[in-house]
Amino acid sequence: MARYTGAVCRLCRRQGEKLYLKGDRCYTNKCSVGRREYAPGQHGMARSKKLSEYGLQLREKQKARRFYGVLEKQFAHYFELAEKRKGITGENLLAILESRFDNVVYRLGFAMSRAEARQLVRHGHFNLNGNRVTVSSILVKPGDVISLREKGMGLDKFKNNMETNATKVVPKWLDYDAAKCEGKVISYAAREDIDLPLEEHLIVELYSK
Ligand code: SF4
Repeated sequence: MARYTGAVCRLCRRQGEKLYLKGDRCYTNKCSVGRREYAPGQHGMARSKKLSEYGLQLREKQKARRFYGVLEKQFAHYFELAEKRKGITGENLLAILESRFDNVVYRLGFAMSRAEARQLVRHGHFNLNGNRVTVSSILVKPGDVISLREKGMGLDKFKNNMETNATKVVPKWLDYDAAKCEGKVISYAAREDIDLPLEEHLIVELYSK
């Protein structure tokens, strides 16, 4: 599956804010945001910070894409799905993004970032309803059970991640059983359950043009 393979810190600098794409490093003084307060590239320092209305909408969409590690075409597909669902389109869109398998693995604390979650899913460390899956873009639904496979339970990587994330709050739309290394989807994520600084109405405005 196609994915962004460039330097991820560039994405934060382009956005002008932290997107927390690198796990632990994002919380240290090694983070590029703050050290270099200008956009990446040859003309980064010279670029104006004043954005048009369209620019703001576009920037917000890019931010959402980068948070969840989703490419343009797939993001547009999620927007179409969100429009078809009952309720508020922007909130539906975020609920769909949250229901991606890699995001759920991250939210349950098995990985330090969504990018790491994607890689761990690709390597086949997880089951969905008892079946091994390697596709991180699967959308989970209420009732689905996500579990770490037995082989993964013995790996230092997971032990370390789960230990570090032990105090992390699992969102209330998920139920996590640490003893079984398993999580269950209780419902779709409500807007108040999503802690990302996104103004989804700007994305809806962008796609409504
Ligand atoms: Fe973004 Fe994290 Fe890199 Fe900082 S360290 S620029 S927050 S990905």
